[in-house]
Amino acid sequence: MELYPHLMASLQVGAVTLRNRIVMGAMHTRLETLDRPHERVAAFYRTRAQGEVGLILTCGHSPNREGIFEPNAPLFCDHSQIKEHRSITEAVHAAGGLIALQLLHAGRYARHPLCVGPSSDRARINPVVPRELTTEEVWQTIEDFAKATELAREAGYDGVEIMGSEGYLINQFTAILTNHRTDEFGGSGVARMRFPLEILRAIRRRIGDEFMVIYRISAVDLVDGGMSGPEVAELARNVEAAGADMLNTGIGWHESAVPTIAASVPRSAWLYAIENVKAAVTCPVIASNRINTPDGAERLLATGSADLVSMARPLLADPDFAKKSRLGRPGEINTCIACNQACLDRIFTDRSATCLVNPRAGREIEFVPSPIARRKKLAVIGGGPAGMAFAINASERGHYVSLFESAASLGGQLNLARAVPGKSEFNEMLRYFRTRLATLGVDVRLGADVKPSDFRGGGFDEIVVATGVRPRIPDIEGADHPKVLSYIDVLGGSSSVGNSVAIIGAGGVGFDVAEFLVGNEQESVDPETFFQAWGVDSSLASGGGLIPAQRKSPLRQVYMFQRKDEPLGKRLGKSTGWILKSRLRRANVEMISGVTYQRVDDAGLHYTRDGQLRVLAVDNVIFCTGQECERDLYERFKAEGIEVRVIGGADFAGELDALRAIEQATRLAIAV
Ligand code: NAP
Ligand code: SF4
Repeated sequence: MELYPHLMASLQVGAVTLRNRIVMGAMHTRLETLDRPHERVAAFYRTRAQGEVGLILTCGHSPNREGIFEPNAPLFCDHSQIKEHRSITEAVHAAGGLIALQLLHAGRYARHPLCVGPSSDRARINPVVPRELTTEEVWQTIEDFAKATELAREAGYDGVEIMGSEGYLINQFTAILTNHRTDEFGGSGVARMRFPLEILRAIRRRIGDEFMVIYRISAVDLVDGGMSGPEVAELARNVEAAGADMLNTGIGWHESAVPTIAASVPRSAWLYAIENVKAAVTCPVIASNRINTPDGAERLLATGSADLVSMARPLLADPDFAKKSRLGRPGEINTCIACNQACLDRIFTDRSATCLVNPRAGREIEFVPSPIARRKKLAVIGGGPAGMAFAINASERGHYVSLFESAASLGGQLNLARAVPGKSEFNEMLRYFRTRLATLGVDVRLGADVKPSDFRGGGFDEIVVATGVRPRIPDIEGADHPKVLSYIDVLGGSSSVGNSVAIIGAGGVGFDVAEFLVGNEQESVDPETFFQAWGVDSSLASGGGLIPAQRKSPLRQVYMFQRKDEPLGKRLGKSTGWILKSRLRRANVEMISGVTYQRVDDAGLHYTRDGQLRVLAVDNVIFCTGQECERDLYERFKAEGIEVRVIGGADFAGELDALRAIEQATRLAIAV
């Protein structure tokens, strides 16, 4: 019996039949900026089609030069480009998939001098001031969308998606915040809706009714001066009447001060806004944002909240998501943990996207494992992310792998990460690792007391050390005082913590510990608490869907310290750092930079700042001062003259994170 009957049901949309209800949402990957771009992009989409996703939506392509969001971003406005696009559509079709081209005009989000908008106000996230489009140019832009749709059809795409959400040009026309026009495209609500409706009508005039056209509507803008729920519903009805075959949903604008897709957003939090769209139309509606498991997707389809689900990052994390769901093997899905570290954070720093849990993503043409000449016996020591990733990838290639872990359970530092509020998705990562290790028959030995001498004599062809990191103990007087704890004591739950706390070190771990200590957990799992904390109006009565946020008392008074004289959190991930800082500010966490530590004693933490000696009376001082490589075992192997390789944190602890550890382990495993 089918485990996910609603998710796996086929669906006829216009002239095409989707094999299931899983849509790969459009993602800006910047793959086109790398070498061999068309081959790379074709391989990226082909892999997802082979994984049986129902429909792929490409990254956004602008229909004209003004609409690209950065120099060299995808543009589709010319016949000369058809050949390169054909290589992509043919690759997907050969794998049994369907692919639609997303058309996206960035409007005032464009980061180049040709930037235009409905009006000339600058977006707070873009230094470029837009030029207001003339009425004639608006009509020309409408025709550009229609022409690009015709080109997409010629290139073999199965449809187009018109990007009307996330605060891009179309959304800028529909919202009073950004549309101050006095011509036929501004003023009343009806006039503000004219731009998207004219685009759809122009498309239908040019290509007829057969070709699939999807409209991505902003289900809730999450900006003051955005549309209210009733206005969104009216736009949805009009969009359907103007020729859209299906509605996709978007949540919030890029400039919204409310997180919409980070791990700290409860799963399926935005259903209230998606249901508002669904209730307004008769065509199929796609739900999006924070849907990352087949169980969650099946539930929302079964209850009628939407007809399909869009998953973008989850398809980066596991291209075989749909296939594994069809086969009833959800435990083997490599789940997106919504960390944004290797996808959005890389995009925002002008690099191409990949995935923390799947470093092959976007690098399909590089990660091609060579066939093995002989099945080797491999030992990997350490059951953290690096060790587990190596064991799985090497075992998938056919090697015999034994994994030795000194603790009673697998996971290493992941066990700490999953205790942090907003990071419970790390549980999924551990579940995936455990399930894959078991399915592949990796010989896992927990509680192992590894001695190099046991490995003498050649029982293994190769030995890989992945013993991870240990916390750095700073050279501060009183570092052994009973008040002092390490982040491991706190996140591991082995020590109780007092009511006032000083955190020394404000890297990712310092921020995680602060979140843990102020008690922000509920906000990441319960939509109502999340809405109150961020001022989201789930009744959709207000324009933009916002109301004043509510404050809640933190569990403890927390102070964070760093030596660098710069704002705390400056180096956190671009897409999530602002969320963490804002949550901690709300919890009255004091952030103090430019300090020199003097000592810890019964009176508390002594430090100097601006040349003044200060004492902060606190119950505990928690060291979050980075890590050092745990290489004792590696050194002992070397001393015994046994050749070993070292990966992950044991190799390099600076800026350690699971991203680098998993990538290094995967690269070694496909070469060994
Ligand atoms: P980290 O980022 O290196 O931060 C440690 C902090 O401790 C530094 O900011 C440093 O600040 C301070 N410090 C270092 N040595 C010190 C010393 N001897 N005495 C006093 N202070 C010292 O390390 P982390 O916070 O453990 O994070 C490790 C890695 O894990 C990060 O690079 C990140 O990639 C990953 N991570 C990421 C996240 C995330 O949210 N994305 C969360 C957790 C971990 P000052 O020198 O200015 O005092
Ligand atoms: Fe998901 Fe993180 Fe991978 Fe991005 S990097 S796709 S958020 S797991």
